[in-house]
Amino acid sequence: MALLTGIREELLLKVTNILGGEEAIAVVKYLASKDRVTDDEIATATGLKLNVVRKILYKLYDSSLITCERLRDEKTGWFIFWWSLQMGQLEGFVKNRKRECLEKLKIRLEYEKKHDFYYCNNPTCKEITFEEAMEVVFRCPSCGRPLQHFDNSSLIRVLSERIETLQKELDE
Ligand SMILES: [Zn+2]
Repeated sequence: MALLTGIREELLLKVTNILGGEEAIAVVKYLASKDRVTDDEIATATGLKLNVVRKILYKLYDSSLITCERLRDEKTGWFIFWWSLQMGQLEGFVKNRKRECLEKLKIRLEYEKKHDFYYCNNPTCKEITFEEAMEVVFRCPSCGRPLQHFDNSSLIRVLSERIETLQKELDE
């Protein structure tokens, strides 16, 4: 990982892992060791199949984590694609993911706050809203046990805390 250091490396690998797991990490590590590389070179170096390497490259490219330069090979006349890491986009990518996550958490929090929940206390069943519980006359639609009011205040607290943490990180 010659081009990377410390926190940014950790962040890059975390993002890469989300995008494509271990195989993507192998590709990114190789990309980080060179200025620019071809897909063939990556496949040879990592032992991954060429089509797997290409799929990962497109995914990384799609997320703006790498760039691509197309040059004509003087001998064959064919185009060669050169790939390289684009670390400048990393923070932006992470911020966007955080923003998406924050939006989802806010929607979930609103939902939890707005509804009363009922639950049969059976770990394999899930809680349902008051409206749904009315329809099934307070019997669990999955297991038939009686439904009891479910206190979601601890979930609301956890959601609120996560929202606050993310919001702070985004405001930094
Ligand atoms: Zn149940």
